Amino acid sequence: MSELTADVLLRASPLPALEARILLMHVLGWRRTQLITRGDEALDAAPVAAFRALEARRVAGEPIAQLVGAREFFGLDFDVTPDVLIPRPETELLVETALAALEGIAQPRVLDLGTGSGAIAVAIASARPDARVWAVDRSEAALAVAARNAAKLLDAHRPGGALSFVAGSWYDTLDAALRFEVIVSNPPYIANGDPHLDQGDLRFEPRGALTDEADGLTCLRAIVDGAPARLVAGGVLWMEHGYDQAAAVRALLDARGFAEVRSEQDLAGIERISGGRFGTRRPG
Ligand code: GLN
Repeated sequence: MSELTADVLLRASPLPALEARILLMHVLGWRRTQLITRGDEALDAAPVAAFRALEARRVAGEPIAQLVGAREFFGLDFDVTPDVLIPRPETELLVETALAALEGIAQPRVLDLGTGSGAIAVAIASARPDARVWAVDRSEAALAVAARNAAKLLDAHRPGGALSFVAGSWYDTLDAALRFEVIVSNPPYIANGDPHLDQGDLRFEPRGALTDEADGLTCLRAIVDGAPARLVAGGVLWMEHGYDQAAAVRALLDARGFAEVRSEQDLAGIERISGGRFGTRRPG
């Protein structure tokens, strides 16, 4: 036992109060209410040392999601490691838009390109138990995280079956016969040299998940170019992109022959995703 209590640790922490509470709840395995009701209890030395270690790493800049190994997305608790992009709240817009596109289609086939933690694929699969979902990533380490999240968060007996994880670059290694009603992607879209890459959480996330090391549009272009060959007639493609890329992505979709090309704004009013439909959906 030490003389230290949760109250004392929180008061002494150099971190913002919310962050200190999250780290302390994590090492103690406590809920928020316990931080209050047990705040004056003397703590064992081990959790105190564990808290101090995490606190120091946070002060040095490591993301909270990596320190606690988790981040909530679409109401689901995803495992997060340094091998994957940390799920962002604005990406829920991509999930909501994909789910709207799937309305009225039974047992739809969905493809998530660059799945990372699996946040998008698993969220769609969770909301649409009948959907058959493929998730691609070139990083084997990311696919392992995504597979763990799928196993943890999805019903093993969902009618759409288990997610199919595919290692490879975009469409390259997918079975040639596969066609999809909806393709979604949150690819690396930050341009090389963007100062954000050297700031905050981004410094600790996989660089290959953030930037194409070029103009920011390389991956978006490859995804648009390859989509028509992989969509059913009337299938749709939706992609997340940077705050200033909406017009450029709509131009890519227009040039490739997509119809109904449009962007949607995130909660901050930024055009955050763009998409379109390829060909005409057959009735029935
Ligand atoms: N939205 C992320 C950011 O700006 C970038 C994610 C991505 O490149 N796909 O921090």
